[in-house]
Amino acid sequence: MSMQDAISAFLGQRHNHCIGGVWTDGESATTLPVENPATEQTIASVVLGTRADVDAAVVAARRALSGPWGTLKAYQRARILLRFADLIEQRAEFLSNVETLENGMPLSLSMASTTGLMPELLRYYAGWCTKITGETIPAAPAGRETEDFLVYTQREPIGVVAAITPWNAPLNIVLMKLAPALAAGCTVVLKPAELTPMTGELLVRLGHEAGVPEGVLNLVQGLGSEVGAALAEHPDVDKISFTGSTEIGRSIVRAAAGNLKKVTLELGGKSPMVVFADASLEDAIPTAAMACFFLTGQNCMAGTRLFVHESIHDQFVAGLVGVAQALKIGDPLAPDTVLGPLISAKQRQRVLDYIALGEREGATRATPERNIDGPGHFVAPVVFTDCQPDMRVVREEIFGPVLTVQRFADGDHEALAAVVNDTIFGLSGSVWSRDISTALAFARRIDSGQVAINAHAAVSPETPFGGNRQSGWGREMGRESLDAYLKTKAVSVRL
Ligand code: ADP
Repeated sequence: MSMQDAISAFLGQRHNHCIGGVWTDGESATTLPVENPATEQTIASVVLGTRADVDAAVVAARRALSGPWGTLKAYQRARILLRFADLIEQRAEFLSNVETLENGMPLSLSMASTTGLMPELLRYYAGWCTKITGETIPAAPAGRETEDFLVYTQREPIGVVAAITPWNAPLNIVLMKLAPALAAGCTVVLKPAELTPMTGELLVRLGHEAGVPEGVLNLVQGLGSEVGAALAEHPDVDKISFTGSTEIGRSIVRAAAGNLKKVTLELGGKSPMVVFADASLEDAIPTAAMACFFLTGQNCMAGTRLFVHESIHDQFVAGLVGVAQALKIGDPLAPDTVLGPLISAKQRQRVLDYIALGEREGATRATPERNIDGPGHFVAPVVFTDCQPDMRVVREEIFGPVLTVQRFADGDHEALAAVVNDTIFGLSGSVWSRDISTALAFARRIDSGQVAINAHAAVSPETPFGGNRQSGWGREMGRESLDAYLKTKAVSVRL
């Protein structure tokens, strides 16, 4: 079968839930159409889950914790993750085509992930399986100095994890949760975004093919307000791993209070890029532009607030406009496309409203109007200059290709840092300078979970990623993410 036929056959399949290893419609046969945002055509439909489906999936996940999965040796879990990585590489083209069809991201971007970050992420966590260890502690329990104790800790899987994921990078973000959860020995109920349900399904299928036992990876498709909310409230879910908007993050925290489940959150951002006068413009201009426009701005790490030294401001802006104008926007399946559409008509309208708002607020639109022929939810990148710190386009996350530029003069870096950090978010940031002291010293001042120097958002499996302030709780990737799927038990032995 050709790739095209295989994709068509997959799209035409029933897309429903996987509960305890069984693919099922569950309690309701109501479906939601899945739209290709580049063509506005319906390409598939997905069954919408109910609270009863969530209950069944949580029961299956709980049961699987003590089933064969719980008795697998660490190296056996590692082997499963390594097979999972190989399968992703082998099916990279298929996975990426489905991601591009349901999300609209350029196929080249998705392929970079399915042949790079995703398998490497699984291999990184496969390596951890056999290195999850406790410690021995020279403890002297209070008041019992005459007795002899051996005290040690062991690390155990945190239990049943609910993974609730967004639509903007659906393959990556689902895997960022599945990989450490499986490495830690947890079981999972995944709820992908309702706009991009099929990539999550494919990852669950590949996980099973790699040898993940039934019940360990469960999938409940459906709406956030129904399935997502039921998971967040569920009394038998031990942990929520959520990526999405700050607003929904807040409602998840409230819902999680019932059983005090552990929560990690990757939320919004409004990340700064600070360009000093001595930066390499040749390097900084295209990188800063793409740091904002990448994924058509639908990227929580996007560098959306640019601060440029006044001496290079005009040259920098002219360069940004040049880059924005030259970016190929259009069919995300075409190999030379750089920007695809936004995810939906609603998202497009939201971004257009923000662009109109920026003009009303007094920002200057440096990029000329550029219309893109429909169909598809396309929006051309916009660079706003003369931005002020109190403008809503500077303060609020737009999740579209809108870059705001502010200028700064020589002077006190503390005052500059105060403006740069004047945001509720704290996800990413970058500093551009050829002077290592300036760059390192300013990187230290930026209040965000990661800062890049002469680059923006350098993501890797080994590097913790996450936000300060209202950008989230906890970190994903790296060792810290694994820790979030483990709990520590201290054992005191009286000898
Ligand atoms: P985005 O704007 O990136 O779609 P959302 O925060 O709206 O971010 O959605 C991220 C994920 O959260 C999606 O899977 C969505 O279905 C889910 N979700 C939405 N509302 C809720 C809710 N009240 N409780 C739990 N999950 C939700």
